[in-house]
Order: sequence, then C-alpha cells, then structure tokens
Amino acid sequence: MEPSSGTGKMDITVTIAEMPRTSDTFEVNEGTFNQPSYKNYPGRSGEVVFLLEGKDYTCSMTVEQYDYDYPDGYVQTLQEASIGNGIDIVFTGDAYDAKDIAKGIFISNAEAGYEHLFDVEPYKTYKDYFNVYAVTAMSDESGIGTVNTIKDSKFGSTFTQNRILLENQDEVFTWAKKADASMDLTKSLVILLQNTSTYEGITYMYADGSAIACCPISAKAYPYDFRGIVQHEAGGHGFGKLADEYIYHNAFIQNCLCADGCEHPQGDEDMRTHYGQMKSLGWFKNLSMTADPSRVPWAHLIYNPQYSDYVDMFEGGYMHTRGMYRSEATSCMNNNIPYFSAISRQAIVERIMKCAGLEFSLESFYALDKDDVGPITKAALEGDRTFGVDPHLNHSTGHGPIFMGEHPNVK
Ligand SMILES: [Zn+2]
Ligand SMILES: [Zn+2]
Repeated sequence: MEPSSGTGKMDITVTIAEMPRTSDTFEVNEGTFNQPSYKNYPGRSGEVVFLLEGKDYTCSMTVEQYDYDYPDGYVQTLQEASIGNGIDIVFTGDAYDAKDIAKGIFISNAEAGYEHLFDVEPYKTYKDYFNVYAVTAMSDESGIGTVNTIKDSKFGSTFTQNRILLENQDEVFTWAKKADASMDLTKSLVILLQNTSTYEGITYMYADGSAIACCPISAKAYPYDFRGIVQHEAGGHGFGKLADEYIYHNAFIQNCLCADGCEHPQGDEDMRTHYGQMKSLGWFKNLSMTADPSRVPWAHLIYNPQYSDYVDMFEGGYMHTRGMYRSEATSCMNNNIPYFSAISRQAIVERIMKCAGLEFSLESFYALDKDDVGPITKAALEGDRTFGVDPHLNHSTGHGPIFMGEHPNVK
C-alpha cells in the first residue's frame, strides 16, 4: 500500500500480488441480496481494512482473485485443417474481464461461435479447410460502455451513434496473430466477440482481404441471435465478402432521397461508393444493379436445373426496394437465417479455395453443394420478406460492413 501512512487528503494505491495457482475455491453471490445465488470459483476473496489511526473509524475494500486456465494471450486450438494450406479463423474477445475469463465465459462464447460458423452451408461441408483458434484477451472492465459511461475494454469497443464501433482494429489483428505469427491476414478472418447481449454486429473489411467481424453475444430470439450474427457478419461479410440484402427504403436506389447515410450507387462500377469498390474487387456477388439476367453474377444458376426452381431475379437489396437485384427470395444476408443463397455459397467456396491455395471448379462446387434449410428456417423462408421489419432494430441504416481502405497497419 502506497503510502502506508500520512495526514490530510491523499490518494492511496493498493497493489495485490498475483495469486499462485490454487485449488481453493470461494463462494460468490451472483444473485441479489433478497434472492442470493451462490457459486464456487477457484481463487480467494478477502477484505483490506483501513483503520484511521487513534479513531474508531474503519472502511474496507473487498478483493476477489480468480484462478483460470486461459490467461491473457493464451492460444487454444479448436481445430486444425486437414485439406489445403489451412485457412486461419481466430476468435478473440473484447470487454471480458478477469472474472469473465475465470468463469469460462470467453472460451464458451468462442466455442459456441465456432459451432455456429460451421453449422451453415457451405462452411459445414468445407470445415476441414480451416484452422480455428481462440486467443484469450482480457479487458480491465466487463461489458461495453457508451460514450457517456466509458468502460475500459482492451480494444475499444464502444457504443457510438447507436452502434458498437471498434477503435483499435490494428491491435485486434496484432493480438490475433498470437495464434500464428506467420498468419497471412489477407487469407484469414478475425472474429472479435464482444461481451454484451445487445443485438449489433459490424464487419471491418480491407481491400487486401483482411477483415474483423465483430459479433456481440446477442440474447435476442432467432434469427437475431448470436448464431445469426456469427453467420451473417463472419460467414457472410467477413469471409464471404457478401453484401447486405435487407431493405429499408421503398425507393429506387439511384435516386433515393434518404439522408440515413446509406449509399446510392449509380451502377455496379460506381467507384465513388463502397459498393462499387467492393464490386471491383470481385466481392458482393450476391447483388447486382443490372436487370439483365444474362449479366448478373448468378446468370449460370438461373437455368441450371439444380437451381432453377429458386434462383432468379428478385428486385430489392442494399437497403432499397428498387434498382438493386438479388438472386433468391431470402438468405442469411437478408435476415440472418442459417441459409446462404446459391450464389453466396459459390462465392464463399471460391474464397475458400483461393485462401486454401487450391483451384476452384464449378463442377466440384455443384457436386458438393447442399441447399439444406433447417425446419426453423423454412418457416422464415415462407414468411414475408423483411421490408418494414427492421432486422437491425436500433438504426434504420442497418449495419453494413465498413470499408477500411487497402490494408491494416500490422507487421
Ligand atoms: Zn436510401
Ligand atoms: Zn450486414
């Protein structure tokens, strides 16, 4: 304790030594005063009591120390690739404090995220092409703060402008590379789990292929659950380089008058927009501004008997009802259901092959392709299209990916 004595008003700094590994446990009340709910955790707790010299006055400070298996920076391998070069998927976290990590919240979130990502086609079929890691990241405080109630999170996840934005992308990439120092970020994906139950999600995308998909542990009901966020942000935007198909504005995209910050490209080659820039990279294959079915990226699927029942021209996407086309009634890029449209599956498999250092062929894509839709999803497919139903609830412009320029600044 510094200083250990003195007079007048001053700050006192109390430093607690790191606890050695222990099998001792202590009881923590995780309920309320009226409805206590006790759990035991490895570690110890105690009180530091301050006594005012010569006076009958004390005050105290409770200290809890948790023991854990996965310290800050610890790398856990969840799976190793058995085909190709091995595409790295790295889960790390923001706003998990020592207690959250000791309680196993980070690792169980990472394991759940890993299961969700590979529980949708084509990731399910191509699972063996991936290495998957979880890298523990400890923050000083638990949960995501707002602009007014700042919380000290390791990578700066904060509520701003009705979204959870991330401040330190480069630090996240650097941290993720603990999984493998020689990791090629341009052929990998970093998934940043954000320790909050809020429904949100955002993906930061770079022209070189690097990306961070930010996925809060949403407590919302299907399809806006944590699974939905992982599949849409990580599987759809982050790795698949797909565009949003949802709709908010009943207008032609070219001359929509909305001032919500959504983009109004004039065509697929409009390089003044992120839409056009991503298109020029060969991304956003699930959308097109051309109405000519022989020129859209899914033209080869429209009359292919394997797909002709459901792949066609559907107007609406990229926030607007008119002037933008998609290929199927609905998909994960619309409302987070566990189903990617056929052209989205193809785009994802093309990227898997490229990142794995293997050749893509349409024939083998067709042969392995599965359009499985779970029973719960069928109901969503038969339900209405989401116009008027805001899948992103808090803000009318959704949570489109943010284009970050050429590449992250990471060694
Ligand atoms: Zn608009
Ligand atoms: Zn999105």
